Amino acid sequence: MITDRIHNSIGGNFAVMTAQGIVRCRARGLFRKQGIIPLTGDHVVIEHLGNHEGYILEILPRKNELRRPPVANLDQLFLLCSMQKPRPNLPLLDTLIATAELAGITPVIIFTKCDLACGQALADIYRSIGYASFAISPSCDINEIASLFQDKVSALCGNTGVGKSTLLNRIAPDLTLPTGEISKKLGRGRHTTRHVELFPAAGGWVADTPGFAFFDALELTKETVADGFLEFANYAQHCKFHDCAHVKDSGCAVIAAVEAGNIAKSRHASYVELYDNLKNKNEWEK
Ligand code: ZN
Repeated sequence: MITDRIHNSIGGNFAVMTAQGIVRCRARGLFRKQGIIPLTGDHVVIEHLGNHEGYILEILPRKNELRRPPVANLDQLFLLCSMQKPRPNLPLLDTLIATAELAGITPVIIFTKCDLACGQALADIYRSIGYASFAISPSCDINEIASLFQDKVSALCGNTGVGKSTLLNRIAPDLTLPTGEISKKLGRGRHTTRHVELFPAAGGWVADTPGFAFFDALELTKETVADGFLEFANYAQHCKFHDCAHVKDSGCAVIAAVEAGNIAKSRHASYVELYDNLKNKNEWEK
C-alpha cells in the first residue's frame, strides 16, 4: 500500500508526499496536546483542503524512529568509515551498528578511501557476520551499493571527511544537498540542524540533514548491548552463566569463539569498551 509520507518538516510545516504530489500541511492541534511531534518519514493520513494544502489527521505506527536527527521509518543506515584521514574508528562504527540493530534499522557498512589503505579485510569481517559491507575508492564501481537504495528510505551516516557527500553525489548526481558548511553559515541553533528532508536517490529516498554525522535512537544499556552484536548470539547461549556479560573468561563461549577465530577480535574489543562505558555510566547515575 502506498501511503502519504512526510518528506520535510520545518517549524510546524510539513511537506507530505501524496499520489497527487506535495501537499503543504500543518498538524492537528491534538498532536501538540498529546506531545506527539510528526517526523520526517512518518506515514500519515491527511485531510485535503485544496490548493495543495491540508491537515495531518493521523500518524500511522512507526517501525522505528531516531531521536537525533529526528526521522522515522528508516529502512537502512549506510555507515561510512574511512580507511585514512580520518583513520577507522571501529569502536564507534560498532556502536552505531549496535544502535541501528536495536532500533530495528538495517545497517550497511562502507569503508571509504580504500585507494589510501585497503579496507577489504575489514569489509570481510562484516560480510561474514551477514551485513552488506563494501570497501570502496573513488574509482571503483558502486552499482551494487546504488542498487540497495531502490524502493527504500535510507540515510548515510559518517563524520566529516569520510566521503559521505562524495558517495551520495556518485549515487545521485542530480541531488544538491545542503552541506554542513552551509548550515554553519546559516547559524547555529537554528532549525536547520534539526531539519531532515527526504530526497529522491537511485530509485529510493535518502534522508539527509546537515547534521547527520551521528545518530541517536534508544538508550543503549549494558543489559541489551550484546544483542546489537549479532554474531555473539549463537555462542552466547552456551556461556556457563546465564547472565554472562562476555567480558571475562569464566566459561564464556563468546570469548572462546573470539580465541578460536570465529568472532573478530576487533568486534569483541568494541563490545567490551562499549559495555564498560555503559556500566560506568549506569553506576555513575546511581
Ligand atoms: Zn559469555
